[in-house]
Amino acid sequence: MREVILCKYGEIVLKGLNKSHFENILLRDLKKRTAKYGSFHIHSAQSTTYIEPLDEGCDIDGVYGEAKRTFGFLTVSRAVEVEKDIGAICSAACDYIPQFMEGKSTFKVESKRADKRFPMTSPQISAEVGGALLERMPYLKVDVKNPQMTVKVEVREDKAYVHGGAEKGAGGLPLGTNGKALLLLSGGIDSPVAGYMMARRGVTIEALHFESFPYTSERAKEKVIELARLLTPYAGDIRLHIISLTHLQEEMRDGIDQEYFTLILRRSMIRLANRTAEKSGCTALVTGESLGQVASQTMLSLYVTDHVADRPVFRPCIGLDKEDIVCKAREINTFETSILPYEDCCTVFTPPHPKTRPELSKVEYQETKIPISELEDEAFGTLETIVLERD
Ligand code: ATP
Ligand code: MG
Repeated sequence: MREVILCKYGEIVLKGLNKSHFENILLRDLKKRTAKYGSFHIHSAQSTTYIEPLDEGCDIDGVYGEAKRTFGFLTVSRAVEVEKDIGAICSAACDYIPQFMEGKSTFKVESKRADKRFPMTSPQISAEVGGALLERMPYLKVDVKNPQMTVKVEVREDKAYVHGGAEKGAGGLPLGTNGKALLLLSGGIDSPVAGYMMARRGVTIEALHFESFPYTSERAKEKVIELARLLTPYAGDIRLHIISLTHLQEEMRDGIDQEYFTLILRRSMIRLANRTAEKSGCTALVTGESLGQVASQTMLSLYVTDHVADRPVFRPCIGLDKEDIVCKAREINTFETSILPYEDCCTVFTPPHPKTRPELSKVEYQETKIPISELEDEAFGTLETIVLERD
C-alpha cells in the first residue's frame, strides 16, 4: 500500500486546446518544487496530477504541503493506491481512513469508476466500502447529506485510490503562464498580498523597492527583503530591485509645495518602475493600492499617478477592505513581518495635509520646479538587484 498525492486541476480544465500548454508548465513547476522532498513520479491524466513517491525516503508530508501551495490545483488529497479488487480496496480503506476520522462521527463514501470494466457500479463500491468502514469503526454513522468526512474511492485505468482528507488547493493558474510583472514592494501589509494575488494568476513576479537611507533604516530594507523571501514559496525565485530615493526626496522637500509631495513622489516611483520593468522584461506593474485607503489612493490621485505609467498597473487589492487584506496576509504568512515597525520612504517628509483631489495640470506644474528627470536618472543609477531563491 503506497501513499500518493492526487491534485485536481482548477481553471486549466477550461483551457480547451491550450490545456496541454498550461499542463506542461504546471508539471514543470511542480517537479521543481518537489525535488527537495525526494524522488517522485509526477504525471497527469484526466485533469488529475499524481505525485507518487519512488522510495521509502520521500517526505510525503512535505510534498503535500508543497502541492497545496502550487497554483493551478483546486483540491489536493492524500490517497492510498491499491489493486483494483474490492477486497483490497475495503481493507486499504479500513487501514488508511481511521487516522483521518479523529473527532468525527459521520461519513459517507463516494465512488467513481473511470474503468467501466470494473465489475461493480459506483453505488455498489460505495456500499461495500461503507459497510467495511462501519465494521471497523462501529461508532460512526453514515450521513449522506452532511457528512463530516467524505471518503472517496476512484477506480482508474491502472489502480484504485482511496482518499483520506482532501483539502482546498491554492487555486489560480500555473506560475509562468501569464507573463511577468514588476511588484512595487513596500514594507506594508498590502503590497505582498498584491504580489501573491498576481502570482496566483500565473504571473511571474519581480519586485522593486524604494528606500531612502538614512531616513529609512537598514532594518527597514531587511524587512522588505524578508517579505520578498516570504513570497517565494508561492511565487518562486524573485529578483528584488532596490532604488534609493534619498536625494530626489530631499529636493522635493525643499523645492515643491508640500501638499503635492506624496503625489509627485508616487509619479516618480511609477516612472522609475517603468524603467525597471523595461530593463527586466516586465509587461505590467503591480501595487498594493486599495481605493480610498489613503490620500494617494483616491480615484483622482490614482488618475494622476497612472498618467505617467507606460504599461498596465495592476492593483489586485483595489476593491478589498483593509480587513480582507489583513486576512490574506495572515493566510500567506507575511502579516507578522509587515507589521514590524520600520519606516517606509513614503512616510519620510510626508505633509500633514496631502491633496486628495489633485488636478493633473497643477501636479505637472509642481514637477517643473525641480530638475525631476535628472534626479530620477540619478536615482535609477543606484539600482541594485538581489535574487531571492525559492524557500
Ligand atoms: P502597503 O501596505 O503595501 O505599504 P500602503 O497602504 O501603506 O500599502 P502606500 O504607502 O500609499 O500604501 O503605498 C501604496 C503602494 O505603493 C504600495 O502598496 C506599494 O505597491 C507601493 N509602495 C509604497 N511604498 C513603496 C516603496 N517604498 N517601495 C516600493 N513600492 C512602494
Ligand atoms: Mg506602504
